[in-house]
Amino acid sequence: MTATESLITSRNPADPSDVLLQIPAPGAFAAVDAVDRARAAQPGWLLDGAAARSAALGEVADAIDAAEAELTALAVREVGKPRAEARAEVVRTAAIWRYYAQAPYEPVGAVHETAVGPGLLLTRRRPHGAAGLITPWNFPFAIPSWKAAPALAAGNAVVLKPAPEATACAGRLGEIIQRALPAGVFTVLPGGATEGNALVSSADVVSFTGSTAVGQAVARAATARGIPVQAEMGGLNAAIVLPDADIEQAATHIAASIAGYAGQKCTATSRVIAVGAALDPLRESLSEALRAVPVGDPSDAATVCGPLINQHARDQVCDAWHGLCALAGGTVPDGPGWYAAPTLVEKVPPGHRLLREEVFGPVAALLPADDLAHAVRIANSVPYGLVTSVHTAGLDTALHGLDRLDTGMIRINAPSTGVDFHLPFGGAKASSHGPREQGRAALEFYTSSRTYTLSPVGTM
Ligand code: NAD
Repeated sequence: MTATESLITSRNPADPSDVLLQIPAPGAFAAVDAVDRARAAQPGWLLDGAAARSAALGEVADAIDAAEAELTALAVREVGKPRAEARAEVVRTAAIWRYYAQAPYEPVGAVHETAVGPGLLLTRRRPHGAAGLITPWNFPFAIPSWKAAPALAAGNAVVLKPAPEATACAGRLGEIIQRALPAGVFTVLPGGATEGNALVSSADVVSFTGSTAVGQAVARAATARGIPVQAEMGGLNAAIVLPDADIEQAATHIAASIAGYAGQKCTATSRVIAVGAALDPLRESLSEALRAVPVGDPSDAATVCGPLINQHARDQVCDAWHGLCALAGGTVPDGPGWYAAPTLVEKVPPGHRLLREEVFGPVAALLPADDLAHAVRIANSVPYGLVTSVHTAGLDTALHGLDRLDTGMIRINAPSTGVDFHLPFGGAKASSHGPREQGRAALEFYTSSRTYTLSPVGTM
């Protein structure tokens, strides 16, 4: 599952002896070459017009729908995503392309009066050129799509550098996309850090999703080149449970956010903050809900928590819970895959790694809080700021009590995981850099605005 200097290997995390793919890494020059070809193809793609771009994106959506079973099976096998979630991702991916298929018809500017004198002011948004997209393995179809679809809709060409662990998924998605587009407009560039680095050094705009350490380096490199960049990075997300919450429902949502896809989502819950009298019933309900989560083979339709992506990831999870008091889990199920049981720990000492770093596995800490203000302080006490889920029956709490939370997203009586693709997505602090993804925000990111001043002939 790594890209070495020369080889990309992708394995099935449920059965590491099953190698999906082993190919030579193309190297830095291949990235520069792909960007050059994208840049050459982009003006023609823009000139093809809104109808052609809309039709092409719609064709991609239809082709993804038609390949639903095949793509689902591929994501199950390559990144260990449980079948139900993998299928939901494929369905959502088609919906993303269909949503952005309407975007080429959206207005690209506005008309204004001049401040002084006769004339007219116009603004018009233009694509940047060749967009470099760098993506993680955990949403192998949806994340490349929610970057590529708006970039293409706005008239950019795209070079996608997927995570090595998701090379086969990206390759298949790339075939589907390329079939609907003119040559050179969309390219998949397999590889790891070398190719990613080279892409950042050559593209006209960069959109990154992945870990915070890499994302911050990408953001620095792109900013030094003076090109637009956005980086969506890690999370250490809290669920806050108030005493007035429906505790059973909260426990169900939180268990799903801790254990679903083995916690390998930037929006997973890894800290559960119980306010006052919520602590005892929540401890019981959540422990029970986590113990009931179906763990196992991701190709089984009932599985919720499949394997971790690789052995290093599983070692990180075991290291994080080591020596702590486990209310549920804390064990490693048998099997050839890299499994870890959904785990809830309590009495976590201040400064512990679970309270500072993203572990990216099915493990969470239960933390007591005296009141809502205290819970918000605990929630904010980490370097990340992606999403918080809050469980309460109080409208006032939901509307006014959460102003001091410093996450980009707040989800009331809902799991921390799960996002709508037509609204801005992103966080604060070490979770995000630059403009938001998705929805109209994405169309703005992949374009820049030019202002025209039109003065009547003969005016001085
Ligand atoms: P990663 O940072 O290891 O890799 C992400 C991508 O960056 C891969 O394509 C990788 O090959 C590439 N890369 C690595 N080094 C590079 C370099 N020096 N220059 C350019 N590119 C480089 O992350 P991952 O393990 O693939 O994904 C897991 C991480 O992604 C977690 O931290 C998770 O929270 C985060 N994530 C965030 C979001 C979000 O929207 N906030 C969504 C999904 C995943």
